Amino acid sequence: MLKRIENIKVENYDFVIVGTGPAGISLAFQLKKNDNKKILIIEAGKFDLDDESQEYYKGTIINNCNLKAPDVSRIRAFGGTSMLWGGMCRELDEIDLKNWPINKSDLSPYTDEARKILRINRKFLKDKQINENTRLIDFQWSEPTIRFNEFYKDKILNDKNIDLLIETAITKIDGNLNVETAQLFDHKTKKYYSIKPKVIILACGAIENSRILLYSKKESKSHFLKNISVGKDYLIHPNYVVAKSLIDMSKIEKILDNGYMNLGMFFLSPTKNFIEEKKIGNVGLRIIVNDYPSKTKELLKDLLCIAPKYAKKIAALGDKKIDCANLKFFSSWEALPSDTNYITLDENEVDNLGIPRVKVFANLNDDTKKTMRLFLEEVGKFFIDKKIGRLAVRDFLYPNQNIWPKDGYGGAHQMGGTKMGFSNLDSVVDKNLRAHGINNLFILGSSVFPTGGHANPTFTICQLAVRLGNHLEKKFS
Ligand SMILES: Cc1cc2nc3c(=O)[nH]c(=O)nc-3n(C[C@H](O)[C@H](O)[C@H](O)COP(=O)(O)OP(=O)(O)OC[C@H]3O[C@@H](n4cnc5c(N)ncnc54)[C@H](O)[C@@H]3O)c2cc1C
Repeated sequence: MLKRIENIKVENYDFVIVGTGPAGISLAFQLKKNDNKKILIIEAGKFDLDDESQEYYKGTIINNCNLKAPDVSRIRAFGGTSMLWGGMCRELDEIDLKNWPINKSDLSPYTDEARKILRINRKFLKDKQINENTRLIDFQWSEPTIRFNEFYKDKILNDKNIDLLIETAITKIDGNLNVETAQLFDHKTKKYYSIKPKVIILACGAIENSRILLYSKKESKSHFLKNISVGKDYLIHPNYVVAKSLIDMSKIEKILDNGYMNLGMFFLSPTKNFIEEKKIGNVGLRIIVNDYPSKTKELLKDLLCIAPKYAKKIAALGDKKIDCANLKFFSSWEALPSDTNYITLDENEVDNLGIPRVKVFANLNDDTKKTMRLFLEEVGKFFIDKKIGRLAVRDFLYPNQNIWPKDGYGGAHQMGGTKMGFSNLDSVVDKNLRAHGINNLFILGSSVFPTGGHANPTFTICQLAVRLGNHLEKKFS
Protein backbone atom coordinates (compact mmCIF):
# COMPACT_ATOMS: atom_id res chain seq x y z
CA MET A 1 0.00 0.00 0.00
CA LEU A 2 1.17 3.52 -0.73
CA LYS A 3 1.52 5.55 2.50
CA ARG A 4 2.75 8.94 3.68
CA ILE A 5 5.21 9.17 6.52
CA GLU A 6 2.93 11.38 8.67
CA ASN A 7 0.26 8.65 8.71
CA ILE A 8 2.32 5.66 9.86
CA LYS A 9 4.23 4.49 12.92
CA VAL A 10 7.56 3.12 11.75
CA GLU A 11 8.00 1.16 15.03
CA ASN A 12 5.14 -1.10 13.90
CA TYR A 13 7.11 -2.49 10.97
CA ASP A 14 9.34 -5.55 11.41
CA PHE A 15 11.67 -4.51 8.61
CA VAL A 16 12.46 -1.19 6.91
CA ILE A 17 14.02 -1.58 3.46
CA VAL A 18 15.53 1.51 1.83
CA GLY A 19 15.61 1.42 -2.00
CA THR A 20 13.37 -0.22 -4.61
CA GLY A 21 15.93 -1.49 -7.12
CA PRO A 22 16.42 -5.21 -7.78
CA ALA A 23 18.03 -5.55 -4.32
CA GLY A 24 15.29 -3.91 -2.23
CA ILE A 25 12.32 -5.38 -4.10
CA SER A 26 13.77 -8.92 -4.18
CA LEU A 27 14.30 -8.74 -0.43
CA ALA A 28 10.78 -7.43 0.21
CA PHE A 29 9.22 -10.32 -1.71
CA GLN A 30 11.30 -12.86 0.17
CA LEU A 31 10.36 -11.35 3.57
CA LYS A 32 6.69 -11.10 2.74
CA LYS A 33 6.51 -14.89 2.35
CA ASN A 34 5.99 -14.86 6.13
CA ASP A 35 2.46 -13.56 6.45
CA ASN A 36 3.05 -12.20 9.96
CA LYS A 37 5.74 -9.69 9.03
CA LYS A 38 5.11 -6.05 8.15
CA ILE A 39 7.53 -4.44 5.75
CA LEU A 40 8.07 -0.76 5.02
CA ILE A 41 9.91 0.21 1.84
CA ILE A 42 11.32 3.72 1.50
CA GLU A 43 12.10 5.14 -1.94
CA ALA A 44 13.76 8.51 -2.57
CA GLY A 45 12.63 8.95 -6.17
CA LYS A 46 9.26 9.09 -7.90
CA PHE A 47 7.52 6.32 -9.84
CA ASP A 48 9.05 7.74 -13.03
CA LEU A 49 12.51 8.95 -13.84
CA ASP A 50 12.87 12.72 -13.45
CA ASP A 51 15.65 15.31 -13.53
CA GLU A 52 14.94 16.65 -10.05
CA SER A 53 15.60 13.24 -8.44
CA GLN A 54 18.58 12.46 -10.69
CA GLU A 55 20.20 15.69 -9.52
CA TYR A 56 20.84 13.99 -6.12
CA TYR A 57 22.98 11.36 -7.87
CA LYS A 58 25.47 13.85 -9.34
CA GLY A 59 29.04 13.31 -8.29
CA THR A 60 32.59 13.13 -9.58
CA ILE A 61 34.25 10.02 -10.90
CA ILE A 62 38.01 10.23 -11.22
CA ASN A 63 39.03 7.58 -13.71
CA ASN A 64 41.26 6.77 -16.67
CA CYS A 65 38.84 4.60 -18.62
CA ASN A 66 35.86 6.61 -19.82
CA LEU A 67 33.42 5.68 -17.04
CA LYS A 68 29.93 7.12 -17.09
CA ALA A 69 29.16 9.84 -14.53
CA PRO A 70 27.36 8.62 -11.36
CA ASP A 71 24.08 10.34 -12.30
CA VAL A 72 24.11 8.72 -15.75
CA SER A 73 24.83 5.17 -14.63
CA ARG A 74 22.19 4.94 -11.90
CA ILE A 75 18.47 5.73 -11.67
CA ARG A 76 16.99 7.32 -8.56
CA ALA A 77 13.35 6.28 -8.97
CA PHE A 78 11.05 3.38 -8.12
CA GLY A 79 12.61 0.24 -9.66
CA GLY A 80 16.09 1.76 -9.49
CA THR A 81 18.61 1.12 -12.24
CA SER A 82 16.58 -1.84 -13.55
CA MET A 83 15.00 0.86 -15.76
CA LEU A 84 18.28 0.84 -17.70
CA TRP A 85 19.79 -2.58 -17.28
CA GLY A 86 20.44 -4.99 -20.16
CA GLY A 87 19.21 -8.16 -18.42
CA MET A 88 22.43 -10.13 -18.95
CA CYS A 89 23.03 -12.59 -16.15
CA ARG A 90 25.47 -15.15 -14.84
CA GLU A 91 26.33 -16.56 -11.41
CA LEU A 92 29.76 -15.81 -10.00
CA ASP A 93 32.34 -18.61 -10.24
CA GLU A 94 33.69 -20.39 -7.18
CA ILE A 95 37.04 -18.66 -7.72
CA ASP A 96 35.34 -15.24 -7.71
CA LEU A 97 34.34 -15.87 -4.10
CA LYS A 98 37.87 -16.73 -2.98
CA ASN A 99 38.14 -13.64 -0.78
CA TRP A 100 34.52 -13.64 0.33
CA PRO A 101 33.41 -15.03 3.71
CA ILE A 102 30.93 -17.26 1.84
CA ASN A 103 31.29 -19.92 -0.87
CA LYS A 104 29.37 -20.63 -4.02
CA SER A 105 27.44 -23.29 -2.10
CA ASP A 106 26.09 -20.50 0.15
CA LEU A 107 24.57 -18.78 -2.90
CA SER A 108 23.46 -21.68 -5.10
CA PRO A 109 20.38 -22.58 -3.01
CA TYR A 110 18.98 -19.20 -4.11
CA THR A 111 19.69 -19.55 -7.83
CA ASP A 112 16.22 -20.73 -8.86
CA GLU A 113 14.49 -18.00 -6.87
CA ALA A 114 16.81 -15.36 -8.37
CA ARG A 115 16.00 -16.71 -11.85
CA LYS A 116 12.28 -16.34 -11.11
CA ILE A 117 12.66 -12.78 -9.81
CA LEU A 118 14.67 -11.73 -12.86
CA ARG A 119 12.54 -13.71 -15.33
CA ILE A 120 15.37 -15.88 -16.62
CA ASN A 121 13.58 -18.73 -18.32
CA ARG A 122 16.45 -21.10 -19.05
CA LYS A 123 18.82 -22.73 -16.55
CA PHE A 124 22.48 -21.76 -16.81
CA LEU A 125 24.53 -24.31 -18.77
CA LYS A 126 27.45 -25.86 -16.93
CA ASP A 127 30.91 -24.57 -17.88
CA LYS A 128 32.62 -26.76 -20.46
CA GLN A 129 36.40 -26.98 -20.43
CA ILE A 130 37.68 -26.93 -24.02
CA ASN A 131 41.40 -27.13 -23.33
CA GLU A 132 43.71 -27.03 -20.33
CA ASN A 133 43.20 -23.33 -19.62
CA THR A 134 39.94 -22.32 -21.28
CA ARG A 135 36.25 -22.79 -20.48
CA LEU A 136 33.21 -22.24 -22.61
CA ILE A 137 30.75 -20.46 -20.33
CA ASP A 138 27.10 -19.48 -20.44
CA PHE A 139 25.20 -16.26 -19.85
CA GLN A 140 21.42 -15.99 -19.77
CA TRP A 141 19.15 -13.01 -20.33
CA SER A 142 16.09 -11.76 -18.51
CA GLU A 143 13.39 -12.29 -21.16
CA PRO A 144 11.74 -9.93 -21.84
CA THR A 145 14.10 -7.68 -19.90
CA ILE A 146 12.46 -7.11 -16.56
CA ARG A 147 11.93 -3.53 -15.39
CA PHE A 148 11.17 -3.66 -11.68
CA ASN A 149 9.19 -0.41 -11.88
CA GLU A 150 6.76 -1.93 -14.38
CA PHE A 151 6.60 -5.55 -13.23
CA TYR A 152 6.57 -5.14 -9.45
CA LYS A 153 4.79 -1.80 -8.89
CA ASP A 154 1.21 -3.09 -8.62
CA LYS A 155 2.32 -6.19 -6.76
CA ILE A 156 3.81 -3.94 -4.09
CA LEU A 157 0.96 -1.43 -4.02
CA ASN A 158 -1.59 -4.23 -3.59
CA ASP A 159 0.30 -6.24 -0.99
CA LYS A 160 -1.22 -6.20 2.47
CA ASN A 161 2.11 -6.79 4.22
CA ILE A 162 4.15 -4.21 2.35
CA ASP A 163 3.82 -0.43 2.67
CA LEU A 164 5.71 1.99 0.46
CA LEU A 165 6.84 5.57 1.04
CA ILE A 166 7.69 7.25 -2.24
CA GLU A 167 9.67 10.50 -2.72
CA THR A 168 11.11 9.97 0.75
CA ALA A 169 14.89 9.86 1.09
CA ILE A 170 16.91 8.52 3.95
CA THR A 171 19.62 11.06 4.69
CA LYS A 172 21.50 9.57 7.66
CA ILE A 173 21.32 7.05 10.46
CA ASP A 174 22.69 7.17 13.98
CA GLY A 175 22.97 5.02 17.07
CA ASN A 176 25.46 2.82 18.82
CA LEU A 177 25.11 -0.95 18.99
CA ASN A 178 21.81 -0.46 17.21
CA VAL A 179 20.54 2.05 14.68
CA GLU A 180 18.45 4.22 17.03
CA THR A 181 17.32 6.87 14.56
CA ALA A 182 17.15 7.38 10.81
CA GLN A 183 16.51 10.79 9.33
CA LEU A 184 14.09 10.96 6.39
CA PHE A 185 13.32 13.83 4.05
CA ASP A 186 9.88 13.92 2.46
CA HIS A 187 10.38 15.61 -0.91
CA LYS A 188 6.64 16.38 -1.25
CA THR A 189 6.18 18.27 2.02
CA LYS A 190 9.86 19.31 2.23
CA LYS A 191 9.91 18.16 5.88
CA TYR A 192 12.41 16.07 7.82
CA TYR A 193 11.30 13.17 10.02
CA SER A 194 13.18 11.08 12.53
CA ILE A 195 12.20 7.41 12.66
CA LYS A 196 13.19 4.49 14.88
CA PRO A 197 13.37 1.33 12.79
CA LYS A 198 13.39 -2.15 14.39
CA VAL A 199 15.60 -3.53 11.60
CA ILE A 200 16.85 -1.43 8.68
CA ILE A 201 18.29 -2.66 5.39
CA LEU A 202 20.06 -0.21 3.08
CA ALA A 203 19.63 -1.26 -0.56
CA CYS A 204 20.40 2.04 -2.28
CA GLY A 205 22.91 0.85 -4.89
CA ALA A 206 26.65 0.45 -4.40
CA ILE A 207 27.68 4.11 -4.41
CA GLU A 208 24.76 5.41 -2.38
CA ASN A 209 25.07 2.70 0.31
CA SER A 210 28.60 3.97 0.95
CA ARG A 211 27.56 7.61 0.75
CA ILE A 212 24.80 7.23 3.35
CA LEU A 213 27.17 5.47 5.75
CA LEU A 214 30.00 7.96 5.18
CA TYR A 215 27.67 10.89 5.83
CA SER A 216 26.11 9.20 8.90
CA LYS A 217 29.56 8.58 10.30
CA LYS A 218 30.58 12.19 9.71
CA GLU A 219 27.44 13.62 11.32
CA SER A 220 27.18 11.27 14.31
CA LYS A 221 27.70 12.82 17.73
CA SER A 222 28.16 9.37 19.27
CA HIS A 223 30.92 8.18 16.92
CA PHE A 224 28.54 5.79 15.19
CA LEU A 225 30.40 3.46 12.75
CA LYS A 226 33.70 4.82 14.06
CA ASN A 227 35.51 1.47 13.85
CA ILE A 228 34.44 0.70 10.29
CA SER A 229 36.21 1.89 7.13
CA VAL A 230 33.49 2.68 4.61
CA GLY A 231 34.05 3.29 0.88
CA LYS A 232 37.15 1.14 0.41
CA ASP A 233 37.83 -1.21 -2.52
CA TYR A 234 35.46 0.28 -5.05
CA LEU A 235 35.30 -2.09 -8.04
CA ILE A 236 34.42 -1.71 -11.71
CA HIS A 237 34.34 -3.90 -14.79
CA PRO A 238 36.35 -2.51 -17.72
CA ASN A 239 34.48 -2.87 -21.03
CA TYR A 240 36.49 -2.87 -24.25
CA VAL A 241 36.81 -4.45 -27.65
CA VAL A 242 40.06 -6.29 -26.96
CA ALA A 243 40.83 -8.23 -30.14
CA LYS A 244 39.51 -9.27 -33.51
CA SER A 245 39.94 -12.35 -35.59
CA LEU A 246 39.08 -13.97 -38.89
CA ILE A 247 38.29 -17.64 -38.56
CA ASP A 248 36.97 -20.75 -40.17
CA MET A 249 33.51 -20.81 -38.61
CA SER A 250 32.88 -24.50 -39.18
CA LYS A 251 35.75 -25.30 -36.81
CA ILE A 252 34.27 -23.09 -34.09
CA GLU A 253 30.89 -24.75 -34.50
CA LYS A 254 32.49 -28.13 -33.78
CA ILE A 255 33.64 -26.81 -30.41
CA LEU A 256 30.39 -25.15 -29.46
CA ASP A 257 27.76 -27.47 -28.07
CA ASN A 258 24.15 -26.56 -28.63
CA GLY A 259 23.16 -23.70 -26.42
CA TYR A 260 26.50 -22.00 -25.85
CA MET A 261 25.96 -19.76 -28.89
CA ASN A 262 23.30 -17.30 -27.78
CA LEU A 263 22.15 -14.19 -29.69
CA GLY A 264 25.05 -14.56 -32.13
CA MET A 265 27.76 -14.72 -29.51
CA PHE A 266 29.58 -17.14 -27.24
CA PHE A 267 31.78 -16.70 -24.19
CA LEU A 268 35.21 -17.98 -23.14
CA SER A 269 36.74 -17.76 -19.70
CA PRO A 270 40.01 -18.91 -18.09
CA THR A 271 40.03 -21.94 -15.81
CA LYS A 272 40.52 -21.64 -12.06
CA ASN A 273 44.05 -23.08 -12.42
CA PHE A 274 45.01 -20.55 -15.07
CA ILE A 275 43.71 -17.64 -12.94
CA GLU A 276 45.59 -18.89 -9.88
CA GLU A 277 48.80 -19.79 -11.66
CA LYS A 278 49.03 -16.44 -13.50
CA LYS A 279 47.72 -14.46 -10.49
CA ILE A 280 45.17 -12.62 -12.61
CA GLY A 281 41.48 -11.76 -12.42
CA ASN A 282 38.59 -13.56 -14.10
CA VAL A 283 37.47 -12.82 -17.67
CA GLY A 284 34.26 -13.17 -19.64
CA LEU A 285 35.39 -12.91 -23.25
CA ARG A 286 32.31 -12.20 -25.37
CA ILE A 287 32.94 -13.40 -28.90
CA ILE A 288 30.55 -11.85 -31.35
CA VAL A 289 30.25 -13.58 -34.69
CA ASN A 290 30.10 -10.97 -37.35
CA ASP A 291 30.18 -12.20 -40.92
CA TYR A 292 29.19 -9.13 -42.85
CA PRO A 293 31.30 -9.12 -46.02
CA SER A 294 32.35 -5.46 -45.72
CA LYS A 295 33.58 -5.91 -42.15
CA THR A 296 35.43 -9.06 -43.19
CA LYS A 297 37.13 -7.15 -46.00
CA GLU A 298 38.17 -4.44 -43.56
CA LEU A 299 39.66 -7.03 -41.26
CA LEU A 300 41.47 -8.77 -44.11
CA LYS A 301 43.12 -5.46 -45.00
CA ASP A 302 44.35 -5.12 -41.40
CA LEU A 303 45.54 -8.72 -41.35
CA LEU A 304 47.47 -8.27 -44.59
CA CYS A 305 49.72 -5.85 -42.72
CA ILE A 306 50.42 -8.06 -39.72
CA ALA A 307 50.19 -11.61 -41.11
CA PRO A 308 50.17 -11.47 -44.95
CA LYS A 309 50.50 -15.21 -45.57
CA TYR A 310 47.69 -16.02 -43.21
CA ALA A 311 45.46 -13.25 -44.60
CA LYS A 312 45.91 -14.57 -48.16
CA LYS A 313 44.94 -18.08 -47.06
CA ILE A 314 41.81 -16.81 -45.38
CA ALA A 315 40.91 -14.67 -48.38
CA ALA A 316 41.19 -17.78 -50.54
CA LEU A 317 38.84 -19.65 -48.21
CA GLY A 318 36.30 -16.87 -48.70
CA ASP A 319 36.50 -17.33 -52.49
CA LYS A 320 35.80 -21.02 -52.07
CA LYS A 321 32.68 -20.06 -50.12
CA ILE A 322 33.96 -21.75 -47.02
CA ASP A 323 32.23 -20.49 -43.90
CA CYS A 324 34.61 -17.71 -43.01
CA ALA A 325 33.52 -15.31 -40.25
CA ASN A 326 35.05 -12.40 -38.51
CA LEU A 327 34.90 -12.29 -34.76
CA LYS A 328 34.81 -9.30 -32.47
CA PHE A 329 36.18 -9.95 -29.01
CA PHE A 330 34.44 -7.71 -26.58
CA SER A 331 35.04 -8.15 -22.91
CA SER A 332 33.94 -7.17 -19.49
CA TRP A 333 36.49 -8.46 -17.05
CA GLU A 334 37.71 -8.32 -13.51
CA ALA A 335 39.76 -5.46 -12.11
CA LEU A 336 41.15 -6.66 -8.79
CA PRO A 337 40.70 -4.45 -5.68
CA SER A 338 43.18 -1.62 -5.30
CA ASP A 339 43.81 0.78 -2.40
CA THR A 340 43.63 3.65 -4.86
CA ASN A 341 40.01 2.93 -5.83
CA TYR A 342 37.47 4.12 -3.26
CA ILE A 343 34.39 6.25 -2.58
CA THR A 344 34.59 9.35 -0.46
CA LEU A 345 32.50 12.46 0.26
CA ASP A 346 33.30 15.53 -1.79
CA GLU A 347 33.67 18.29 0.79
CA ASN A 348 33.29 20.99 -1.88
CA GLU A 349 30.07 19.82 -3.53
CA VAL A 350 26.74 19.30 -1.80
CA ASP A 351 23.28 18.29 -3.07
CA ASN A 352 20.07 20.28 -2.52
CA LEU A 353 19.79 18.88 1.03
CA GLY A 354 23.33 19.99 1.87
CA ILE A 355 24.67 16.41 1.83
CA PRO A 356 28.16 16.09 0.30
CA ARG A 357 28.15 14.53 -3.15
CA VAL A 358 30.37 11.55 -3.88
CA LYS A 359 33.87 11.55 -5.23
CA VAL A 360 34.67 8.12 -6.66
CA PHE A 361 38.20 7.03 -7.56
CA ALA A 362 38.15 4.25 -10.15
CA ASN A 363 41.35 3.90 -12.16
CA LEU A 364 42.39 0.78 -14.04
CA ASN A 365 45.99 -0.38 -13.69
CA ASP A 366 48.49 -2.55 -15.57
CA ASP A 367 47.47 -5.69 -13.67
CA THR A 368 44.04 -5.34 -15.24
CA LYS A 369 45.66 -5.22 -18.70
CA LYS A 370 47.75 -8.25 -17.80
CA THR A 371 44.63 -10.27 -16.95
CA MET A 372 43.16 -9.70 -20.39
CA ARG A 373 46.43 -9.99 -22.33
CA LEU A 374 47.43 -13.33 -20.83
CA PHE A 375 44.03 -14.82 -21.44
CA LEU A 376 43.85 -13.54 -25.03
CA GLU A 377 47.30 -15.00 -25.73
CA GLU A 378 45.99 -18.31 -24.42
CA VAL A 379 42.92 -18.12 -26.67
CA GLY A 380 45.19 -17.16 -29.58
CA LYS A 381 47.30 -20.30 -29.02
CA PHE A 382 44.14 -22.39 -28.88
CA PHE A 383 42.94 -20.93 -32.20
CA ILE A 384 46.27 -21.75 -33.86
CA ASP A 385 46.35 -25.21 -32.33
CA LYS A 386 42.91 -26.11 -33.64
CA LYS A 387 43.56 -24.35 -36.97
CA ILE A 388 40.61 -22.06 -36.30
CA GLY A 389 42.37 -18.81 -37.20
CA ARG A 390 44.47 -16.03 -35.69
CA LEU A 391 43.53 -13.22 -33.43
CA ALA A 392 44.89 -9.70 -33.31
CA VAL A 393 45.14 -8.41 -29.74
CA ARG A 394 44.74 -4.64 -29.38
CA ASP A 395 47.95 -2.71 -28.70
CA PHE A 396 46.78 -0.98 -25.53
CA LEU A 397 46.90 -4.27 -23.63
CA TYR A 398 50.69 -4.53 -23.99
CA PRO A 399 53.17 -3.18 -21.41
CA ASN A 400 54.43 0.38 -21.86
CA GLN A 401 51.16 1.38 -23.52
CA ASN A 402 50.29 3.71 -20.73
CA ILE A 403 46.75 4.40 -21.82
CA TRP A 404 43.25 3.05 -21.71
CA PRO A 405 41.63 4.01 -25.03
CA LYS A 406 38.66 6.37 -25.21
CA ASP A 407 36.42 3.81 -26.95
CA GLY A 408 35.84 1.79 -23.79
CA TYR A 409 32.90 2.37 -21.56
CA GLY A 410 31.79 1.19 -18.21
CA GLY A 411 30.79 2.31 -14.78
CA ALA A 412 27.40 0.64 -15.01
CA HIS A 413 28.51 -2.12 -12.66
CA GLN A 414 29.31 -0.43 -9.39
CA MET A 415 30.65 -2.74 -6.71
CA GLY A 416 32.45 -2.61 -3.36
CA GLY A 417 32.57 0.16 -0.77
CA THR A 418 30.77 -1.73 2.02
CA LYS A 419 32.38 -5.10 1.50
CA MET A 420 31.60 -8.36 3.22
CA GLY A 421 34.29 -9.91 5.41
CA PHE A 422 35.29 -11.40 8.70
CA SER A 423 35.61 -8.40 11.05
CA ASN A 424 35.58 -4.62 11.15
CA LEU A 425 39.32 -4.72 10.47
CA ASP A 426 38.84 -5.96 6.90
CA SER A 427 35.25 -5.09 5.98
CA VAL A 428 31.96 -3.33 6.69
CA VAL A 429 29.46 -6.22 6.89
CA ASP A 430 29.67 -9.85 7.99
CA LYS A 431 28.70 -12.90 5.94
CA ASN A 432 25.03 -12.26 6.78
CA LEU A 433 25.33 -8.66 5.53
CA ARG A 434 24.98 -7.20 9.04
CA ALA A 435 27.18 -4.15 9.70
CA HIS A 436 29.92 -5.21 12.12
CA GLY A 437 28.94 -4.41 15.69
CA ILE A 438 25.47 -3.02 14.86
CA ASN A 439 22.62 -5.41 15.59
CA ASN A 440 19.87 -4.08 13.35
CA LEU A 441 21.70 -2.62 10.32
CA PHE A 442 22.06 -4.66 7.12
CA ILE A 443 23.51 -3.61 3.76
CA LEU A 444 22.37 -5.18 0.50
CA GLY A 445 23.62 -4.84 -3.08
CA SER A 446 26.86 -5.10 -4.99
CA SER A 447 28.50 -2.72 -2.48
CA VAL A 448 29.07 -5.84 -0.35
CA PHE A 449 31.13 -7.61 -3.05
CA PRO A 450 34.77 -7.94 -1.85
CA THR A 451 35.79 -8.76 -5.44
CA GLY A 452 33.73 -8.45 -8.61
CA GLY A 453 34.55 -11.40 -10.90
CA HIS A 454 33.57 -10.67 -14.48
CA ALA A 455 29.84 -11.49 -14.45
CA ASN A 456 27.25 -8.72 -14.44
CA PRO A 457 26.30 -8.17 -10.79
CA THR A 458 22.50 -8.22 -10.59
CA PHE A 459 22.04 -11.98 -10.49
CA THR A 460 24.32 -12.24 -7.45
CA ILE A 461 22.55 -9.24 -5.87
CA CYS A 462 19.24 -11.12 -6.16
CA GLN A 463 20.74 -14.34 -4.76
CA LEU A 464 22.06 -12.32 -1.81
CA ALA A 465 18.65 -10.66 -1.35
CA VAL A 466 16.84 -14.00 -1.11
CA ARG A 467 19.53 -15.35 1.22
CA LEU A 468 19.27 -12.24 3.42
CA GLY A 469 15.49 -12.58 3.51
CA ASN A 470 15.83 -16.14 4.83
CA HIS A 471 18.38 -15.04 7.39
CA LEU A 472 16.33 -12.08 8.69
CA GLU A 473 13.26 -14.23 8.89
CA LYS A 474 15.07 -16.72 11.16
CA LYS A 475 16.98 -14.14 13.21
CA PHE A 476 14.03 -11.88 13.97
CA SER A 477 11.21 -14.43 14.20
C1 LIG B 1 23.22 0.87 -18.82
C2 LIG B 1 23.24 -0.22 -17.77
C3 LIG B 1 23.16 -1.55 -18.17
C4 LIG B 1 23.22 -2.57 -17.20
N1 LIG B 1 23.11 -3.86 -17.62
C5 LIG B 1 23.19 -4.85 -16.71
C6 LIG B 1 23.10 -6.21 -17.13
O1 LIG B 1 22.91 -6.52 -18.31
N2 LIG B 1 23.20 -7.17 -16.17
C7 LIG B 1 23.39 -6.86 -14.85
O2 LIG B 1 23.51 -7.79 -14.04
N3 LIG B 1 23.46 -5.59 -14.43
C8 LIG B 1 23.36 -4.58 -15.32
N4 LIG B 1 23.42 -3.27 -14.89
C9 LIG B 1 23.58 -3.01 -13.45
C10 LIG B 1 22.23 -3.11 -12.71
O3 LIG B 1 21.38 -2.10 -13.17
C11 LIG B 1 22.50 -2.97 -11.20
O4 LIG B 1 23.35 -4.03 -10.81
C12 LIG B 1 21.23 -3.06 -10.37
O5 LIG B 1 20.26 -2.12 -10.76
C13 LIG B 1 21.58 -2.84 -8.91
O6 LIG B 1 20.43 -2.99 -8.13
P1 LIG B 1 20.28 -2.27 -6.71
O7 LIG B 1 18.89 -2.48 -6.26
O8 LIG B 1 21.39 -2.69 -5.84
O9 LIG B 1 20.54 -0.71 -7.02
P2 LIG B 1 19.65 0.29 -7.89
O10 LIG B 1 18.98 -0.42 -8.98
O11 LIG B 1 20.54 1.41 -8.26
O12 LIG B 1 18.53 0.79 -6.88
C14 LIG B 1 18.81 1.64 -5.79
C15 LIG B 1 17.49 2.19 -5.26
O13 LIG B 1 17.74 2.95 -4.08
C16 LIG B 1 17.03 4.19 -4.16
N5 LIG B 1 17.73 5.16 -3.32
C17 LIG B 1 18.99 5.65 -3.50
N6 LIG B 1 19.30 6.50 -2.51
C18 LIG B 1 18.24 6.52 -1.67
C19 LIG B 1 17.99 7.19 -0.45
N7 LIG B 1 18.88 8.03 0.11
N8 LIG B 1 16.80 7.01 0.17
C20 LIG B 1 15.86 6.16 -0.38
N9 LIG B 1 16.08 5.49 -1.55
C21 LIG B 1 17.25 5.67 -2.17
C22 LIG B 1 17.06 4.51 -5.65
O14 LIG B 1 16.10 5.47 -6.01
C23 LIG B 1 16.81 3.14 -6.24
O15 LIG B 1 15.44 2.83 -6.25
C24 LIG B 1 23.35 -2.24 -15.82
C25 LIG B 1 23.41 -0.90 -15.43
C26 LIG B 1 23.36 0.11 -16.39
C27 LIG B 1 23.45 1.54 -15.95
